[in-house]
Amino acid sequence: MSVTHRLTAPAPGWTATTDVVVVGSGVAGLTVALNVRKAGLRAMVVTKAVLDEGSTRWAQGGIAAALGEGDTPEQHLDDTLVAGVGLCDEEAVRTLVTEGPDAVRRLIATGARFDRGEDGEVLLTREGGHHRHRIAHAGGDATGAEISRALVSAVRVDPDIELIEHALVLDLLTDAEGHAAGLTLHVMGEGQRDGVGAVRARAVVLATGGMGQVFSATTNPAVSTGDGVALALRAGAAVTDLEFVQFHPTPLWVGPDAEGQLPLISEAVRGEGAHLVDADGVRFMVGQHELAELAPRDIVAKAITRRMQEQGADHMFLDGRHFGAEMWEHRFPTILATCRAHGVDPVTEPIPIAPAAHYASGGVRTDPRGRTSVPGLYACGEVACTGVHGANRLASNSLLEGLVFAERIAADLAGRHAAGELPERTVDVAAARAARPVPLPPSEARAEIQRLMSRGAGVLRSAASMADAAAGLALIAEQARSHVAEEKPADPRVETWEAANLLLVATALVAAAAQREETRGCHWREDFPERDDAHWRRHLITTLAASGDPVSTPEEQ
Ligand SMILES: Cc1cc2nc3c(=O)[nH]c(=O)nc-3n(C[C@H](O)[C@H](O)[C@H](O)COP(=O)(O)OP(=O)(O)OC[C@H]3O[C@@H](n4cnc5c(N)ncnc54)[C@H](O)[C@@H]3O)c2cc1C
Repeated sequence: MSVTHRLTAPAPGWTATTDVVVVGSGVAGLTVALNVRKAGLRAMVVTKAVLDEGSTRWAQGGIAAALGEGDTPEQHLDDTLVAGVGLCDEEAVRTLVTEGPDAVRRLIATGARFDRGEDGEVLLTREGGHHRHRIAHAGGDATGAEISRALVSAVRVDPDIELIEHALVLDLLTDAEGHAAGLTLHVMGEGQRDGVGAVRARAVVLATGGMGQVFSATTNPAVSTGDGVALALRAGAAVTDLEFVQFHPTPLWVGPDAEGQLPLISEAVRGEGAHLVDADGVRFMVGQHELAELAPRDIVAKAITRRMQEQGADHMFLDGRHFGAEMWEHRFPTILATCRAHGVDPVTEPIPIAPAAHYASGGVRTDPRGRTSVPGLYACGEVACTGVHGANRLASNSLLEGLVFAERIAADLAGRHAAGELPERTVDVAAARAARPVPLPPSEARAEIQRLMSRGAGVLRSAASMADAAAGLALIAEQARSHVAEEKPADPRVETWEAANLLLVATALVAAAAQREETRGCHWREDFPERDDAHWRRHLITTLAASGDPVSTPEEQ
């Protein structure tokens, strides 16, 4: 039997039972829950905070689908393949773009209200990398909030979807055949389901979102700590493409010790003519690219980071003072209010900005039905790697991916249920006990992990920067192990479990990024500035060794 690992935690004190347990309540998790219900299966959604606390609610631009006149799935496929720089799985992309338009129509039928023109048709806009107007949006720039509102309303009225909020999922439980049979979780709150418990289920779906919190600067909310990827690795599943993290060039910089989610200063501000300048007021994008500040996101993020490194600065500036007060108030009221809430007045001063981790293209490897390499364990949304994004995500494809592959998981579960292939499972308690406990780092390790990652494996990477990050991460792991040996381990609690997840995901990400000796998509190596198809037009598959260390193996070409 292969060795698995688990977080150090008390034994479960209570047990609940359902048919399908879904971890996470973003677009992906709630779509799975609503659709398995249609197949007559009971669903339980467990989520770390409140239902709408995830990246979905923050999505601004919209959701991409070939809905417009003259647009076709084939054109959407072409644009997606270009963005993915040779690493997309074409079958997965074809699935996304052909099933996408109807999935969006079903989302509308569920209650999501998209912006419409006077003729009643859904309005479509264009974003970088798309050759057609195909981005549906809601409330202007509040698309994710509307999708979340609609899905949360729909699950709340279904009595056969059980919702457990403030529940942090720890690890997978399996039966004697190694099939997923449930999970362990910690519920914060009062009542029967306090503390660590277990949920028994016929199948488990991970929809835990991204891992932006691995870095000190991120646009992701506090819950995006990569828990699903860490859980999958400990359970013996394969993860892939972890090195491909997309960075946004202009989140608001809120101070050297800032933690948590940073507000976005939208690309539209540059579109209206704001300039990127350094502390001396020099427009450093001029001469770097013919489009200057409006160069592609990746180029802008890279140029800002280079300038910061050259000048030993932790941020640059976006200067829109020439807009004047009236334009700020009418064109960008939300951004103006956000800046002012952070003590910056864009009318009279340049806005401090710095690139931040935005989207994880990689994740738990799945097949087109959402199945992972562990039987009965599924994954969808940002936690999954379906092969759709390859080396970089095309703007607004992520909400669509969450929607389409969540529906496919529900269809697979429904088919298996109808065929009698989804029996109740008995948890193999001996196997759960035999899993090796992972020593927990102290909660303070979170900030150190984030600092190491932003410095060593952020926008610009090199063998030396990643060796530094890897050494720092190894030291944190070593200290956690020695504290266990000295019988003064960190307390098992939410903060230390999250720190352990961040440490594992960060270690795996650095190992993969150090191994990929080329520049491709959103993975930029200063020491290997070219794309190298001969060696690297393939994926790195990461699993955990018996020691608990992540090992990345290049896929056969
Ligand atoms: C600022 C911002 C703007 C964006 N704009 C766009 C856009 O315009 N278009 C687009 O397509 N994409 C956009 N994205 C990306 C997109 O929002 C996400 O990729 C997508 O919403 C992810 O959905 P999800 O369901 O996979 O995860 P999420 O919505 O992040 O939900 C994850 C859920 O898992 C829960 N969870 C996590 N760990 C645990 C655990 N251990 N136990 C229990 N529950 C757990 C969380 O609490 C949460 O409920 C944006 C992202 C950000 C941050």
